[in-house]
Amino acid sequence: MPNDAVPNDGPGPDGIDGYGSAIRRRDSTAGRDLSYPPLPEPLTVPVYDNHTHLEIADGEHPLSYREQLDRASSVGVRGVIQVGGDVETSRWSAAAARIEPRMLAAVAIHPNEAPDLEEAGTLDDALAVINELAGQPRVVAVGETGLDFFRTGHDGRAAQFRSFEAHIRIAKEHNLALQIHDRDAHEAVIETLLRVGAPERTVFHCFSGDADMARLCAEHGWYMSFAGNVTFKNAGNLREALFAAPRNLLLVETDAPFLTPLPYRGRPNAPYLLPNTLRGMAAHLETDVSLLSAQITANTELVYGRWDAEPVTAAFAAPNDEQNPDQAPLGGLA
Ligand SMILES: [Zn+2]
Repeated sequence: MPNDAVPNDGPGPDGIDGYGSAIRRRDSTAGRDLSYPPLPEPLTVPVYDNHTHLEIADGEHPLSYREQLDRASSVGVRGVIQVGGDVETSRWSAAAARIEPRMLAAVAIHPNEAPDLEEAGTLDDALAVINELAGQPRVVAVGETGLDFFRTGHDGRAAQFRSFEAHIRIAKEHNLALQIHDRDAHEAVIETLLRVGAPERTVFHCFSGDADMARLCAEHGWYMSFAGNVTFKNAGNLREALFAAPRNLLLVETDAPFLTPLPYRGRPNAPYLLPNTLRGMAAHLETDVSLLSAQITANTELVYGRWDAEPVTAAFAAPNDEQNPDQAPLGGLA
């Protein structure tokens, strides 16, 4: 793969046709409105999407990640953290961030992937890849990692803990931020962070705790990133948490293509819909949208640094380029 390869909208090398540059397809399509919602009114003060999955295609006519980012730019969403959840999507994320100035990457094995890999005897190999990717330019976070007691039963928990602890160590070793996935596992996640020692910049992605947990996170200086579900009618708990969280620890994200904010719940989500969530948060906090944007942008740049450093195209050489060009990370993009 040439170093000057640029992403395009053609099919990926894995044979997934017609999904833009994505290498995954969201599978829950039944019964949903698959059209993308309209563009919101642009923000005056730009923000960043703390957590998104542009490698996952959704919708009747999936958008390529460049189209996604173009739309995002047009409404004041200046950049995204593109998040991997396994070896393949983490490689994709790191490779895409190298050539796309509006993207920085997070790499990890998702807590729901860890038990399968452990059972197959390949978890350590996968963690070694994450460790290597964590050292690459424009990889700014380790995540999403954590614990998920909703999807994973008792049998898989030992593997989840082992994987989470390894990710915490990788983040600290590379001085990267940590993005945590915590589903029905608040206490165990907090206990693990305190036992192993949390990285300096620790972020709860798609924050799902209540006001007490928000106060506890604040005590430790942990960031809380709110997603579109903070706008849902039944999310009173989340809004109380939002209210309890100090403004200097707030982040905002889409977790696209999931968790589309009101009034478009269920339709494909994308970074360009971030303003809907942000406006919902500002309304709940009874604050000015631009003030909140400015605060969140400052927080985001403290956690990850700046997006506008030059992409590292010239230095790019995928580890396996020579042995197997088809498997090179950039292959997923070109
Ligand atoms: Zn996610």
